This record gives sequence, C-alpha cells and structure tokens, in this order.
Amino acid sequence: MESLVSEIFVEVLLDQNLSKALDYAVPQALAHLIQVGMRVEVPLKSSVKKGTIAQIKSTSNWPNPKPIFQLLSSTPEISDTLWKLAHWMSHYYCTPLQRVLKCFIPVNIRKKVQQKTQILLKLKQTHDASILAITQLRGRFPLQADLLDRVLQHPKGVLFTELNASRSTVAALVKKNLLVVEKITSSGLEEEEFFATQPKTLNTEQTRTLSAIQSSIQARQFAAHLIYGVTGSGKTEIYMQAIQTALDQNQSAIMLVPEISLTSQTIERFRARFAQKIAVLHHRRSLGERSTAWEELRKGETKLVIGARSALFCPAQNLGLIIVDEEHDSSYKQSDEMPCYQGRDVAVMRAHLEHCPIILASATPSIESRYNAQIGKYQLHTLEARATSAQLPTVTIIDMAQALERNKGFTHFSDELARAIQKRIETGEQALLFLNRRGYHRMQICQSCHSPIKCPHCDLSLAFHREANSLQCHLCGHEQPLARHCPHCHANESLQFKGFGTEHVERALHALFPNIRTLRMDKDTTTKKESHEEIFQQFRAHKADVLIGTQMIAKGFHFPSVTLVGILNPDATLAIPDFRAPEQLFQLLTQVAGRAGRAELAGEVIIQTFSPHHPLLAMAAAQDYPAFYNQALEERRLFKYPPFSHLIKLVFSAPTAEEAVEKAKAAHKQLSPLSPLPVSPAGHAKVKDLFRFQFLIQVDKVGLAIPLLKEIQGAKIDVDPLSTYF
Ligand code: ADP
Ligand code: ZN
Repeated sequence: MESLVSEIFVEVLLDQNLSKALDYAVPQALAHLIQVGMRVEVPLKSSVKKGTIAQIKSTSNWPNPKPIFQLLSSTPEISDTLWKLAHWMSHYYCTPLQRVLKCFIPVNIRKKVQQKTQILLKLKQTHDASILAITQLRGRFPLQADLLDRVLQHPKGVLFTELNASRSTVAALVKKNLLVVEKITSSGLEEEEFFATQPKTLNTEQTRTLSAIQSSIQARQFAAHLIYGVTGSGKTEIYMQAIQTALDQNQSAIMLVPEISLTSQTIERFRARFAQKIAVLHHRRSLGERSTAWEELRKGETKLVIGARSALFCPAQNLGLIIVDEEHDSSYKQSDEMPCYQGRDVAVMRAHLEHCPIILASATPSIESRYNAQIGKYQLHTLEARATSAQLPTVTIIDMAQALERNKGFTHFSDELARAIQKRIETGEQALLFLNRRGYHRMQICQSCHSPIKCPHCDLSLAFHREANSLQCHLCGHEQPLARHCPHCHANESLQFKGFGTEHVERALHALFPNIRTLRMDKDTTTKKESHEEIFQQFRAHKADVLIGTQMIAKGFHFPSVTLVGILNPDATLAIPDFRAPEQLFQLLTQVAGRAGRAELAGEVIIQTFSPHHPLLAMAAAQDYPAFYNQALEERRLFKYPPFSHLIKLVFSAPTAEEAVEKAKAAHKQLSPLSPLPVSPAGHAKVKDLFRFQFLIQVDKVGLAIPLLKEIQGAKIDVDPLSTYF
C-alpha cells in the first residue's frame, strides 16, 4: 500500500556524505509513527540508503518526492535534547549536521552490529582445590597459574575479554578440568561481584562541595561546578556520592575520563561501590559490545556510564549528572576531523539542555574553566588537602648543565637522581621516570650537510628505534632501515644520532644499575589491546623497580609504593611556539609529580632541566597552581588569547604545496572581513603526503564568524583549537 502517500513529508539526512537533507514522502501507513530522529530506509536513484529523519513538514519544495521504504526503529534513535545538542554542535563547530550525527548515531548503531556471544570463565573445582592447583601449576605453567588465580578472584566468573589470557591457556585449563567455559550475550559487566565499599565520611571541604552539587541535582537545575583539588584530595569520592544522589532519584549519570585513565583500576573502584550495572564505553570495546551498552542505556536498564570523550553522546535516559574528570585533559578535544569539538564544552552544553548539573574537576583546571569560575559562570570548589594522611611530595630542580659538567660527559641521570633511584632499589620502593619522547634516538643527522633523515611522507625527522632496529615516523608510522650515508650530500660515514627517547633511558639505567628491573610504557610497548593495562598490573605487582614512560604514565593510576618521580628533560616542550604550551607543560608536570607518595610513604620529585630558572618550572615545583593561573591569564589578556577571545583555525591540505597555499589564500580572501591572520605552513607542514597550510581568525564571539565560515569549502575548520601551531 506504499502508493497511498500521506500529506506529510520528511527531510532525511542520509548516512553517506551528502551535504543536504533530501525530501521524502511518508506512506499513509507510517504517517502516525513518524518522529524526528528515527532511522529510515529510503530510495536514492536505484539503490536503498539508510538515514535519519531530521524534520517533519507538511509541504515540500520538490515536485514529487519519493516515499520512504520503511522505518528501521519504532522509537527515535536520539532524543529531542540530543537533537538540540547536535544542531548546536553543527552550528558552533561549522560542521554539516550529518557529520555531527555520526557522533550521536555511531557506526555500530547505523550498521546494527549485534553483540557476539561472550566467553565466561568459571572455576570447575572448589575454591580450595583451585588454590592447590595454582601452587602446583606455578613452577611449570606460570601463565596457567596466573589465569586460574585471576578467575579465582571472581566468584561468579569473569569474561575472557577482561583477562589478558590466550585461548590456548584457557584450553589447557579446561582440559585439566580446572576451568569451565560458558557462552553468554549480556554485556556481562554487572556479573562480577566485589566487596562493596562504603561511602567515606567526608571532610569539611568535601562535604561543602558535595552539598552544593547535591542541591543542584535535587533541584534538577543546570549548574557547572568546578572542583579544583590536588591529586588525592578526594574528588573521586565526591563523584561517587554525587552519582549515588542522582541514582537515588532514578536519574542516570555520565562520567567522562581521559581514554588513557579508563583502566580496570578506575572502573573496579566504581563497580565496588555501585550495585548498578555500569556501561563502560571506550574504543577498545567491540562494536557489538558498544551496541549492547547503547541499547541498555536507551531502555533505561543501565544508568551509569563511564567512558572516554565519545560517551558524551550516549542515550542515557533522564540524565541527572555529568562529570568530566581531569577536565583540562587534551583528549577531550577532537582535532583530527570535523566536528573539531571540545568534549568538555559540549558536555556543559548537554547538561544545560538536560537541566542537570555538571562537575568539571582537575588538579590543574584549564585556564578557560578557571576563568569561567572567576567570572561567576561556574561555581568554584577548592580542595586544599589530600584526603588521607599522604603528604604532597617534595620537589627538587636539578641544573643539568652543572650535572653534565660534574659527570664530564653526557648522562641521563644527575647524581641526585641516581642516588634517589639507588635508594628505592635498596628499600624496595618504586620509581617512575618520565620522558616525553619514545624511541632510542630522536634522529639521524648528517655531520657534513646538517640535514636530518626525514620521513618521505611527512615533514618530520625519523626516530631511531633500537628494538625494531629501524627509523620510524611518529606521524604516519613509516618505517625504514637505518641510513648508511646521507641521502642529501651523499657523504659517507657522516651520519650521527641525536636526541634520546625512552628506549635509550631504559638501557642507560641498566648500564648504571645492572640488577635493576624495569618496565617501559610508551606507544611502542602498548600496541596490543590490553598491554597498557598489563604493564600497569605488573608494575603494581612490583615486578619492576622503575617504570619508564611517556605521558601515558602521568594519568590516573595509583601506585602505592612509588615514592620517586624523575622528570627528564621537559625543556623541549618549553620551546613549542604555542600559546597553550606552557599550560600543558604545567599540567603534565603537576600530574606526573602527583604520582609520587600517594600512600603512607612520602614522595620525592626530581626535575632535571637545562633551564632551572624558568618561572614555569619553579611554579610547577612549588605546585603553585594559583600563581601559574594568574600569570598565564595575564599573558592571555595581553595577547587577547582565549578566554579573552575565540580562535578559529582553518587548515587546507593538498598533494602539492602550491595547491594547499592557493586554497588557503582563496579562503583567506573570502574571510577578509574577519581580518584573518596571515597564511602559514602548519606546524607539521606535510603529513602523509599532504601539504598543510593554515590561518587563524580571532573573534570576540564565534557566532560573528559563522555566517562567513559556512561559505568556505575544503577546509578543516577548528573552532577553539587546542593548538595554534600543529
Ligand atoms: P582524587 O580523585 O582527588 O585523586 P580520591 O577520591 O581518589 O582523590 O581520594 C584519594 C584517596 O583518599 C583514596 O584512597 C580515597 O579512598 C581516600 N579518601 C577520599 N576521601 C576520603 C575521606 N573523606 N576519608 C578517608 N579517605 C578518603
Ligand atoms: Zn611520516
């Protein structure tokens, strides 16, 4: 009966990248079912396409719109509020609505990816018999012993995907009659049992903060609460009690955390507190698992979400609270593709539209958020003290120029740091060494013509990786053998290595302390799905004295026996020509330093630098965020940088530099009423064979620029970019 067309029409946004919505007629039979946000199948030319209903209307400007084929869902895929949010994002971030909808209706939902069955592992024998078996296996089959040990800790069974085990290890234990395998389809997360933790009795500062938040939850009112509290000041405890308040009112809650701190340690802390099912959303979950979680949220079966940036778009029902942990973290910003949205800001907008409060929290709030608190847009709550008796660490700055002179040559370790490491080995405490560069050497460079060996696809020197024995590009992943002679001047034997990375530090440490046990965590050692987690677990289990790593080690993790943090060479970051670089370095240093001495043991932080008198390092050493904030804010005010203006960055890429410049110049001319800054090559002027040119616009209000920006073709438009340089 599809020919019986009703009097209503719909605008449908197809999933494929068409810039405009298309009009379709609605068959009589479907007319009363149609709602904005529903998924539909429609004809396009001679094929069938999927899309989302964007609007319902009574007339169409098209002569004879074709009817839609069928509805793919009986309810809208996204709520009215989320539609509003999508429209706002589309407008503010100058991105077509269907591109924005990809965030709200992710690929697993578009393609209806179903969750495959999961494997649940349980003990076959009794608890005691299993313990006996573990002891017997320990010597010859350590992997089997470890696995059985992990299963033993989960009385109701544990998902195979939650463990770092191979199928053969599982098979071996099944064969030995020690394990049973069951197939299930639920997300399974609620199955595990934990010793429930009780809410802690809050101290005065925590109590004051929580009651302010609770009153906004109970009033169902938008309010942005900024918690500024050092690591260990009890922010997470406040989140948990605030979440409980929302759940008690039958509301749901979303907590965003940086991808890297979304580890089992974080999640288990929440599972141990809440009897509720928790949806954990991040990119390591399969599409099917994500579909299930999304479905359960839509049905209101799950009310608590912990996830990375994209969890912000999940269909949580009756939302009562949003939390953005480590709100300053750069992973909340999407920079590589449009919409280039700032997840923190979108979260604030969602809370606003949902009429619920939002908590933004950090030990080093972003200048923007802290300023919003200063001008009264956000409520500021300060937690001055650590919640337990743990002391803040002592921080020493070491002048590396002097250290090298004393050492009569290059070393990674000043005497002070070497002694401090030695002491940790002797006392059985642990140390973290932080260096923001991976690989062995930063580059290979020619002594006679001074050119480095560069990536053939990118504007970047290749780093030497010793374990892989190759040169690698940290932008595109290109890999090639070591160079024997200079490709530019063809000089022989002229190539030298320059600069050091984590691999080199690890080797040097073994040279200095022959018996030291080390672990390394950087992009090279964490390529496998769970390896990040695995390294942390090994370190926590004290299988190493020192963990060497890049910024990956800075976040979220709690190591009770780490009492020393060494920061090697933060100088490179000081030199980045970007208005946010000092802020990011201050945040990173404070965060890394915060890893020291979290339990009963006092912590010590040693910063090694060639610029020991740099004011930023002094402020980081003193852990003086207020001083840092005041200074940074004055600098921003002077140059009229955010929060005193908004920046918009337009990036143009093309296979040749000429084309890229030309595109940029054309757009620059079009936008001349906005007085754009000059066109320049991007910080990485070439990436993956594409040349990149860019320019910036500085405006008081983004809205002023939007009408003109909408006319621009072929640019990546980044509103409120993280970096003006890269
Ligand atoms: P943050 O999130 O600010 O780093 P946490 O909430 O993780 O801080 O708190 C740090 C430690 O202090 C945790 O072990 C936590 O259980 C404990 N803690 C937090 N609040 C209290 C409290 N009111 N009383 C006792 N211990 C607390
Ligand atoms: Zn490259």
